[in-house]
Amino acid sequence: MEKYEVVIGLEVHVELRTQTKIFCGCATRFQAPANTLCCPVCTGQPGSLPRLNRRVVEHGIAAGLVLGCKIQEQTRMDRKNYFYPDLPKSYQISQLYAPLAYDGEVRVPQTKETEAFSVRIHEVHMEEDAGKLIHCAQTKTSLIDYNRCGIPLLEIVTEPDLRSAVQVDAFLRRLRDLLVYAGVSDCRMQEGSMRVDVNLSVHRPDTPYGTRTEMKNLSSLRSIRQAITEEAGRQMSVLCAGGLVRQQTRRFDEATGKSVAMRTKENAVEYRYFPEPDIPLICIPPEWVKKIQEALPKSREERVSHYGRELGLGEYDAWQLTEEVEIADFFERTVSFGAPPKLAAGFLLTEVLRVAGEGGTIPVSPAALAELLGMLSQGEISRTTAKEIFSRMVTEQISPKEYVKAQGVFLVSDEETLQAAVAEVLQVNPAAVQDYRNGKQKAIGFLVGQTMKALQGRGKADRIRELLTERLGCAGIR
Ligand code: ADP
Ligand code: MG
Ligand code: ZN
Repeated sequence: MEKYEVVIGLEVHVELRTQTKIFCGCATRFQAPANTLCCPVCTGQPGSLPRLNRRVVEHGIAAGLVLGCKIQEQTRMDRKNYFYPDLPKSYQISQLYAPLAYDGEVRVPQTKETEAFSVRIHEVHMEEDAGKLIHCAQTKTSLIDYNRCGIPLLEIVTEPDLRSAVQVDAFLRRLRDLLVYAGVSDCRMQEGSMRVDVNLSVHRPDTPYGTRTEMKNLSSLRSIRQAITEEAGRQMSVLCAGGLVRQQTRRFDEATGKSVAMRTKENAVEYRYFPEPDIPLICIPPEWVKKIQEALPKSREERVSHYGRELGLGEYDAWQLTEEVEIADFFERTVSFGAPPKLAAGFLLTEVLRVAGEGGTIPVSPAALAELLGMLSQGEISRTTAKEIFSRMVTEQISPKEYVKAQGVFLVSDEETLQAAVAEVLQVNPAAVQDYRNGKQKAIGFLVGQTMKALQGRGKADRIRELLTERLGCAGIR
């Protein structure tokens, strides 16, 4: 088989994190009952007029900046005409002629699977989302939920700079980090707040690019990888058999792992784009861009290096903690309430992550966790007790300090009590004492255990061991 190279360009839609929609005051909440978040504007009623949400432009500028783009000084919305049941106006307000941001570049660092590489960003533009069609095969009916109409989106269009499924995967993770940490979108593919269209062609190196197909509605990194492998293979076999690849929009079916042609690709001209007459020109003075640049939150790398330098965490832990920005925020707040950073990181990455919900929601407050970790680091409670209290905090919302007081689960650190318990245990276990003196080191573990038992598990194991060895003298000498 001749050697082909795969060429991929992406169109990525991300939902913006705004309270309200792009052209009206309707809320953007996810999973509200169908058709409860609509008004005359977002359902396209005659006579209604759109008003642009300023936050959308600000998020768009922020996204443009973290993607290394230039920002347009004057931009405007354009009308893209087409009929579809989920689009009640019969047109989508989008941008064609002067996209908000353009000419960017994203550096993707080296991963386990690939070398570092760059992807040029053709443009970032603003647009509104359409509603959602729900097809019911049983009753052969389709329902429409208009809640999603008018949810603000950014469309990020890359140049055809990607060469493999592995690169696409690494690029999308990088893109997600950049946008999530800029506070622009939560980029959750499983919730549809990041959606990817894959344009793919194959060609022999040193020849012009081939004809591309576009695969829409890919909803996970896994299906994107699968779709790329399948479509690249399909195009190569078409070419090898002497055929021609046709420019098409294809739909990838996750269940079968195959893609099917949906329609031949339409051109921009078929949408009869024209400048949106209902929305005035948007002027973006450089001072506005500068203000947004200065207010950009810390990127993931900046947080990682902060955790290393200022908080003394290892690099691995720092990357783990920043996997989800919600977890990173929670960690920082816990530390700000006085929890020792290393202890907090360790506890978060084990105990807390285990109970974290979808999207990094954590069922306890940072203040309460800091209180718990404070007691642990002061030696007031054991690690086992800390874990137990934590699971109670999750289910019962208890205050760790009050719980410790009420239940008496604090560690006994009082020397006299410890001394008395140790003396007692040595007295009633002469055989173990003899074993130890005969050089059987293991006997000490038994004695520690017995002392712990006498203290109902609330002794400090380290201190008990010390007291026992002191009293017994060095093993094997006598
Ligand atoms: P259109 O205007 O028809 O949507 P664009 O030129 O805007 O086409 O490209 C859309 C997407 O297709 C971009 O992400 C671009 O990188 C990608 N693309 C363009 N040409 C090719 C090609 N030959 N192979 C793969 N992807 C391509
Ligand atoms: Mg396009
Ligand atoms: Zn509305």
